[in-house]
Amino acid sequence: MNYIKENLNNVFKDIEDACVKVNRNKDDIVLIGVTKTVDIPIIEEAIKNGIKHVGENKVQELVKKYDLIGSKVKWHLIGTLQTNKVKYIIDKVDMIHSLDRISLCKEINKRAESIDKVIDCLVQVNISKEESKHGIYKEDVIEFIKNVSNKFNNIRIKGLMTMAPYVDNPEDVRIYFRELKDLSNEIKKLNLENVYMDYLSMGMSNDFKVAIEEGANMIRVGTSIFGKRNYMK
Ligand SMILES: *Cc1c(COP(=O)(O)O)cnc(C)c1O
Repeated sequence: MNYIKENLNNVFKDIEDACVKVNRNKDDIVLIGVTKTVDIPIIEEAIKNGIKHVGENKVQELVKKYDLIGSKVKWHLIGTLQTNKVKYIIDKVDMIHSLDRISLCKEINKRAESIDKVIDCLVQVNISKEESKHGIYKEDVIEFIKNVSNKFNNIRIKGLMTMAPYVDNPEDVRIYFRELKDLSNEIKKLNLENVYMDYLSMGMSNDFKVAIEEGANMIRVGTSIFGKRNYMK
């Protein structure tokens, strides 16, 4: 399992390099280890070597792992969330990255209220308008956020999240990261109640260095830490 430590150290080094390049502080970057399909002992090894946040994209998998690992790390739900599954994760997750429709807000708000919790969420933006991607189109985000800000007391919007298209050369998606940063600045200026543009969750194994250069402060990294995923098992 030595490779985990080695991979992680490489990722930490890459984060630092990207920060140096644009004069940012590496301590401002939250690294989320994306642990989908990764087994518990390997996740524990990553935790031992510095991972403090983990991200899962499936509710069932998150719940199973949460039961074994518990709250010594922070849990992020980074995948599409079905409304009928909110109840399973509401008391476990520290942040939901995939807020993308009002019906989901209603359910999250209801479940959060029932356990007296205000839950941090990011609005997922489909910045590249790829059909295969979830999220709200850029031009609809402000109206959506205005609606949420008025109506849902148990949801705190903490920022924006996006997934860039997969490309061989990460320079090709720099523009999308920049657009998300611009959008978050625009929203910040509106000073909406219960809306904070504290986090920009963007950048994955292939493109997190570019994302950091463009203002990301939450990156979601799986493959670079854990290796290629095997979905067959
Ligand atoms: C899988 C996944 C990641 C991590 O992708 P890698 O390329 O393995 O780093 C990040 N964000 C989301 C939403 C994911 O589903």
